[in-house]
Amino acid sequence: MAKTWKTRTQLVHEGSRRSQYGEMAEAIFMTQGFVYESAEAAEARFIKAGEDEFIYARYGNPTVRMFEDRMAAIEGTEDAFATASGMAAVSGALTSMLKAGDHVVSSRALFGSCLYVLEEVLTRYGVNVTFVDGADLAAWEAACVPGTKAVFFESMSNPTLELVDIEAVSKIAHKVGATVVVDNVFATPIFSRAVEQGADVVVYSTTKHVDGQGRALGGVVCGTREFIRTVAEPYLKHTGGSMSPFTAWIMLNGMATMDLRCRAMAEAAAKIATALEGDDRLSNVIYPGLYSHPQAELAARQMGTGGTMLALDIKGGKAEAFRFMNALDIIKISNNLGDAKSIATHPATTTHQRLPDAQKTALGITPGLIRLSVGLEDADDLIADLRAGLDAI
Ligand SMILES: *Cc1c(COP(=O)(O)O)cnc(C)c1O
Repeated sequence: MAKTWKTRTQLVHEGSRRSQYGEMAEAIFMTQGFVYESAEAAEARFIKAGEDEFIYARYGNPTVRMFEDRMAAIEGTEDAFATASGMAAVSGALTSMLKAGDHVVSSRALFGSCLYVLEEVLTRYGVNVTFVDGADLAAWEAACVPGTKAVFFESMSNPTLELVDIEAVSKIAHKVGATVVVDNVFATPIFSRAVEQGADVVVYSTTKHVDGQGRALGGVVCGTREFIRTVAEPYLKHTGGSMSPFTAWIMLNGMATMDLRCRAMAEAAAKIATALEGDDRLSNVIYPGLYSHPQAELAARQMGTGGTMLALDIKGGKAEAFRFMNALDIIKISNNLGDAKSIATHPATTTHQRLPDAQKTALGITPGLIRLSVGLEDADDLIADLRAGLDAI
């Protein structure tokens, strides 16, 4: 039945499990354990748990299971495992499948914590990691060699919104038998078609657009039943990265409105980018939905939109960028994204502060760069707020 449902219907109903009370809203099963009818029943469940049978919340819980089933349905994967944060999903997906001596190819432009996992953690355990420029297909081709176990990339990079061509990189990776793991946060689960385009495993920080209201940390790994239940789950459930039932309930409620929210945010982002492009106080307006974006065609093909994020490069540098930010009223200075509230971030001094200057330059993180996560406010109010910020420079 679920197979014929469209995304919006799935976002509201898919995976619902009702107790004997027939409750309308998804229940929070705030329990870590489950009671067995008999010692024999406990033994049987430990041998093989049935569909509606749970053992311990770190292994699985009815509320978390509802969230996993709903995420898998909209992502178009057979299964999913929910995690305590986006980083538990990223590190769990990679660590669960890799061992010493394995080779991984990754794009260089990564979220700071993802970079730490690849550069500091995996290498410490003997995994060899090759970093490439994510937009350079020849570099992927050269780095992926027979025996390469996995490739990893963010489908749209933070904070400069550079896209990686999922279909092309997946083809290159699959030729050498590598598993393609995509961090799809910036694309959002609404605009994502990563699996259709060749990805094997898709990970999200559900802290972002899935919650959508900046309340809880969460993550999810989506993939084949074989990968989720025999590779990711054993690792995640035994090392402790599972999602709490309360978080799963927050995420389920977020999902009901996610399609409407992401589309409204993307529409506002496009309107803002169009309004600000060409302003003489900006050296660049980066939005993959603008014709001027070098990957506009790829963005349209891969996501069908420019997304909910944009970046503004303020002429001058840090002082001008700070004056701009300090004059904003509606738009808050923070570092989350995908929130109902619009957020401005200065990557060079916050999220990417730790990077050496040369690396910042290489990644396009200039002193004037502001990352903007567009929220659910009226787009005209946001444009007025941004113009007031520009006037204050
Ligand atoms: C936020 C984010 C993460 C990490 O997610 P948390 O929920 O903060 O652990 C990973 N990748 C990307 C691209 C992100 O934006």
